[in-house]
Amino acid sequence: MRPEILNPLFAALTDLKGVGAQLAKPLARLGLERVVDVLFHLPTGLVQRHPVDRLDDAQPGQQIIVTLTAQDYRSGRSPRAPFGVDAFDASGDHVRLVYFGRTSGLAKKLFPLGEPRQVSGRLDTYGEMRQIVHPDHVSEPDSDAAIATSEAVYPLTEGLTNARLTQLVEIALERRPELAEWIDGPLLTSRNWPTWREALTRAHASPHDAAAHDRLAYDEIFASQVALMLIREGLRKRKGRAVAGDGRLIDALRLPFGLTGAQELVGREIAADMGRETPMLRMLQGDVGSGKTLVALRAMLAAVEAGTQAALLAPTEILARQHFATLQAMLAGLPVNIAILTGRDKGRVRESTLMGLADGSIDILVGTHAIFQDAVTYRDLALVVVDEQHRFGVAQRLMLTQKAARPPHLLVMTATPIPRTLQLANHGEMDVSRIDEMPPGRTPVDTRVVSVDRLDEVVGGLERHLETGAQAYWVCPLVAESEMSELAAAEGRAALLRERLGADRVGLVHGRMKGPDKDDVMARFQAGEIGVLVATTVIEVGVDVPAASLMIVEHADRFGLAQLHQLRGRVGRGAAKSVCLLLRSQNLSETARERLALMRETNDGFVIAEKDLELRGGGELLGLKQSGDADYGLASAEQLVRLLPVAHDDARLFVERDGGMDGARGEAVRHCLYLFERDAAVPLLRSG
Ligand code: ADP
Ligand code: MG
Repeated sequence: MRPEILNPLFAALTDLKGVGAQLAKPLARLGLERVVDVLFHLPTGLVQRHPVDRLDDAQPGQQIIVTLTAQDYRSGRSPRAPFGVDAFDASGDHVRLVYFGRTSGLAKKLFPLGEPRQVSGRLDTYGEMRQIVHPDHVSEPDSDAAIATSEAVYPLTEGLTNARLTQLVEIALERRPELAEWIDGPLLTSRNWPTWREALTRAHASPHDAAAHDRLAYDEIFASQVALMLIREGLRKRKGRAVAGDGRLIDALRLPFGLTGAQELVGREIAADMGRETPMLRMLQGDVGSGKTLVALRAMLAAVEAGTQAALLAPTEILARQHFATLQAMLAGLPVNIAILTGRDKGRVRESTLMGLADGSIDILVGTHAIFQDAVTYRDLALVVVDEQHRFGVAQRLMLTQKAARPPHLLVMTATPIPRTLQLANHGEMDVSRIDEMPPGRTPVDTRVVSVDRLDEVVGGLERHLETGAQAYWVCPLVAESEMSELAAAEGRAALLRERLGADRVGLVHGRMKGPDKDDVMARFQAGEIGVLVATTVIEVGVDVPAASLMIVEHADRFGLAQLHQLRGRVGRGAAKSVCLLLRSQNLSETARERLALMRETNDGFVIAEKDLELRGGGELLGLKQSGDADYGLASAEQLVRLLPVAHDDARLFVERDGGMDGARGEAVRHCLYLFERDAAVPLLRSG
């Protein structure tokens, strides 16, 4: 239960006076739905206004405050033309106040002729004439609402003005309760950080108040670290079961190749974990194509050798089916019973699978999260493997381990290379194994960056590529984060390619397609019946088609580097030399340019991930936002890197020295956890 003292902050914004459905919409677009969201919506800019008596005292381009008297209105010829108010300062100098978009009514109301008004805005020149376009504040002189000389500027969206948001921030600030300090005293002093309440006041007053912003970012990071540590403690306290295979199945696996050194090494780490009673909580990181599946299979076989069951969880139907097919082929001839269960399996087939799981005749189950639904019971589940973990959140990971009588060992596999700092930030409750070596015989993918104006040439190249009998992917851009427009882009591209290349050579898959339809297209692509697969990012994870040796990514600059790296990993899986074409927009920022250049220079996912973090310095972190994992709304990447080690140490002190949630700091830290909604850890610890 959330502490009552925080309730006013978690009220919906629409409960506030004057916030109706009209305003709720733009607010929601910014992710602002509750008072607390506004409280943590910090300004990113600051306008400094220069109060002047005469326009002559100001420079063009300056933000000014000046008293003006309107003398005349000027309507344009067409109703769409801008509306002007001719006004004069105290010395009689002229300036025109310009209003676009049929706002003459508003302008006339703000500037009754002959009456002085205090006005703020940016002074510009238009030809010989001075003008201010859309003054940002207009008030009666000597009114209470004097225009501030400095004003914080917030990230905004259409339909929401800075003034309106500022009012909401004021309400949110008023609702702040007094809370006991949760940061360790000496740390707070040494950093010279303000209290939580003061930090909010100061952070909202200025984006440049580093101490205030750091303090708030730290709070968020600290909350995450404490949560992860509590989860970890809770999980480690539980008693699982030691699983040791005798090697008879693993030795019977017939592979056309030997293990890489890295596969051997992580295999030993996993076997050692599974051999202990404390449930394994391990993340296996390895680039696309590094051979994680085989590592997982060997771990699952060890579980089967020990007379227990294993489950492999995939994030999508396509991947589940692909894993099932791969594993089935590798297990051919072995006395191992493997089955698949997804949301699509119904009726008799599903019943018999459920029965096999319950009576233990199924050894390995592959599926989507349907395999953890209530109806599914296992006779003796000892190992859960989760593939492409970045689609699952902490809560889901916890749910998985609740399925067995005794907590099973958990192995989470990801092809997203995670920089060490972020590892701690998001998966601090897990141990990590890295496969840092590729199987021999791979030729690195040749990556080229091409401007989108050369689309015609690219399509020509694609055509020649298809003529050699090879296949290709064409990934369409993420447009404005809307699934619909992303789909429209993919459909449009598929239509164009069909026209150029012939309808039956082009397939299309996207996230809104029904499962069987999607699988059908994928199957035809895998069988080589389709030459080029146009896709939204649904192909991002794990699909394996060795004959596809060309990857084209449109608007590559809109993807995160980690995501690009994943996409590129779809090719380079066969013997043929592979090419990845990154189509870039025409006008690229310096950072975007550097990021794409990096893709060209290296194929090493870990290098890319570290560098990406460095290049971003802020903003969204490596696509972690979409992951359903703890995301950071306040802390920038730069703050995360800088403050995380500190928060990590403090969280450890809290848990180990200060007695955790039951100790003296417990109540205060609890507030912090709830404020940042990292509270899932609290009940876990108590029931643990
Ligand atoms: P990941 O899941 O890590 O992206 P996979 O497990 O799908 O990679 O492996 C990619 C390909 O490499 C598969 O075709 C697999 O059979 C092959 N492979 C795995 N391990 C080795 C190895 N040690 N030597 C050669 N090929 C391997
Ligand atoms: Mg894989």
